[in-house]
Amino acid sequence: MNELQQLYQEVILDHNKNPRNFGVLSPCTNHAEGRNPLCGDHLEITINLDSNQINDIKFDGSGCAISKASASIMTTLAKDKSIDEVKSIYDKFHFVVTSKKDVELDLEELGKLAVFAGVREFPARVKCASLAWRTLISALENKDSQVCTE
Ligand code: ZN
Repeated sequence: MNELQQLYQEVILDHNKNPRNFGVLSPCTNHAEGRNPLCGDHLEITINLDSNQINDIKFDGSGCAISKASASIMTTLAKDKSIDEVKSIYDKFHFVVTSKKDVELDLEELGKLAVFAGVREFPARVKCASLAWRTLISALENKDSQVCTE
């Protein structure tokens, strides 16, 4: 493992151990539940939306380190952002985890999302890493929704 990969590994372990914005917002304006049966990841995302702006966001649930770290990092990136901003961050994230292994990524520009660059080498893990984002987008589009990766 090179130095950079090791750093990313540490970021994932840190967010897994000390997840940010963990819990349930009650009351909330939007809510979605996401499941990845292949791995057993289960997330619940609650949001308080104020005219297109995410004022507050929390996630709850259980799953593997990748799914939890991804949800934790996702909440830190989505907070105080508009729906459009969140969708463009999601597009970037999606590109990071689904691009081909040999595609050069601009890690500096990707910021925190860069930690998931290693995931693209493990197709089964892409669902774990994407679950939080897919659940968030679903929560933004429907006030109350369910997402399943299968
Ligand atoms: Zn998982």
